[in-house]
Amino acid sequence: MTSAPDSADCLFCRIVAGEVPADLVVSTDEVVAFRDISPVAPIHVLVVPREHRPDAAATAADDPAAIGRLVAAAAEVASHEGLDDYRMVFNTGPGAGQSVFHTHLHVLGGRDLAWPPG
Ligand code: IMP
Repeated sequence: MTSAPDSADCLFCRIVAGEVPADLVVSTDEVVAFRDISPVAPIHVLVVPREHRPDAAATAADDPAAIGRLVAAAAEVASHEGLDDYRMVFNTGPGAGQSVFHTHLHVLGGRDLAWPPG
């Protein structure tokens, strides 16, 4: 699968570009991490690659190492936020709850997290 172009219609491309404000936690050459606008846990951060692809599967297909870099960035976020235990989630597809079609890794923590999720 090829990467979709950056798009003015992509909210996370606009956050990455600094066109939409976000509460940044980490920013590197490759990823931006910012607090979720509707947190479902006391700590809820989204780790987003700067390069636009629609979901984690597309990123993995095009650039598998990018997934490792996202996970490493999520671990940095967790450390920054003082989390020992946390959950990393890629919702992939609308039926799984994906609502923004730019790859992003949720980092959730700060409370007990039930399993299985809803
Ligand atoms: P998804 O449902 O897995 O695609 O996750 C998208 C996440 O983006 C949701 O948890 C939303 O609350 C979050 N979100 C949507 N708009 C914004 C925003 O402008 N800033 C930060 N987070 C957002």
